[in-house]
Amino acid sequence: MAKVEDYIPIVGQSCIDDLRLLGERLKGKVIQHINSTPVGGGVAEILNRMVPMLRELGVDTKWDVIKGGEQFFEVTKKFHNALHGRAEEITKRDFEIFTETSQQNIENVNTYGDIVFIHDPQPIALIKKKAANKWLWRCHVDVSNPNDRVWGFLMDFIVQYDAAVFSAPAFSRKLPIGQFLIPPSIDPLSDKNKELPQQTIDAVLRKYDIKKDKPIVTQISRFDRLKDPLGVIEAFLQVRKYINCQLILAGGTAEDDPEGVKVFEDVQEKAKANKDIHIILLPHNDIEVNALQWASDVIIQKSIKEGFGLTVAEALWKARPVVASNVGGIPLQIKHKYSGLLCHSIEGASFAIKQLLGSPGYAKRLGENGREHIKNNFLITRHLRDYMLLFLSLYYPEDVIYLC
Ligand code: UDP
Repeated sequence: MAKVEDYIPIVGQSCIDDLRLLGERLKGKVIQHINSTPVGGGVAEILNRMVPMLRELGVDTKWDVIKGGEQFFEVTKKFHNALHGRAEEITKRDFEIFTETSQQNIENVNTYGDIVFIHDPQPIALIKKKAANKWLWRCHVDVSNPNDRVWGFLMDFIVQYDAAVFSAPAFSRKLPIGQFLIPPSIDPLSDKNKELPQQTIDAVLRKYDIKKDKPIVTQISRFDRLKDPLGVIEAFLQVRKYINCQLILAGGTAEDDPEGVKVFEDVQEKAKANKDIHIILLPHNDIEVNALQWASDVIIQKSIKEGFGLTVAEALWKARPVVASNVGGIPLQIKHKYSGLLCHSIEGASFAIKQLLGSPGYAKRLGENGREHIKNNFLITRHLRDYMLLFLSLYYPEDVIYLC
């Protein structure tokens, strides 16, 4: 696993020196992250790297996961969709299920951190255990247009926190507590993002029986309706009328997402009988995701709603040309026609894919600009600095924090 020093060639010595100074200021404090799944999805992806790096910087960091049964995760998935503005029928019983499981977690989860850092709505009710310690609620969801009932229900918890953290300015809400805007990040040296030897990339393509004889268009995402996999297939079929290319639609499921299996079946059904569409149920294997991203000529992320969209940052870091929906945190990453192409519809996506496949020089330039943009704004080193400054600000709310 990469050490903090290993990032110096990418971000420079002074950036790492700043991180070490901040780490020293936080000595003696225990930071406890709590979320609802150890694997799958962006939150787990970030914590998997954030936690060991904070420890290496001298910050005593823990990560705990709440428990919940199938019914609880069905409810929290409905909440997730409703917060993203999707129509969901949420019953009184759903709120009761959420409250019952939350109560069990309140009884069983030890909230020992000096700072308890709660991620997303699933563990939000743990705030009832707030004592003299500090509590942060980190919202990874696009809540710019949430369902009022669900948001109102969550507000009763949110107002008890010391502060809330959102990924993008458009997601912030009117709240009586402090708000911080901290976008997520990717780790350039993780198995997911590091450079791979060509043999490794080829081996992964062989494993999934994908030949390199025609351009590859890829979307990698959990099989979730909000990632619009059926729309991706439709956009691809429109492109395929004009350009001989192939589609990879690859993804796994997350432990806290009960809808994944059904969506996967629907996607298989729609793609069957088309040899140019590869539907892949991925194991949890970062090298495979990495290899498929490197191997692609165009990456697509046709989400209907998106929190941040780590897959976009991952693709841009690999200097891939990306076509992605203009939703959630994606426009923070893609400046249209500069670091990728934004789209608003199936037709728009197919037009943009055709444009990139037909103009390799233009596609290459967008990819290179994208990599630079991610390097300057969305690497884990920037994220670590923001989080450590946030932690310190809870203890010194009125002060300017000097790094030297
Ligand atoms: N991912 C993965 N395997 C998969 C599908 C997704 O490792 O089969 C990773 C993906 O590379 C990214 C994260 O899961 O790092 C998804 O984060 P994103 O913000 O794109 O979407 P979320 O799943 O959180 O909605």
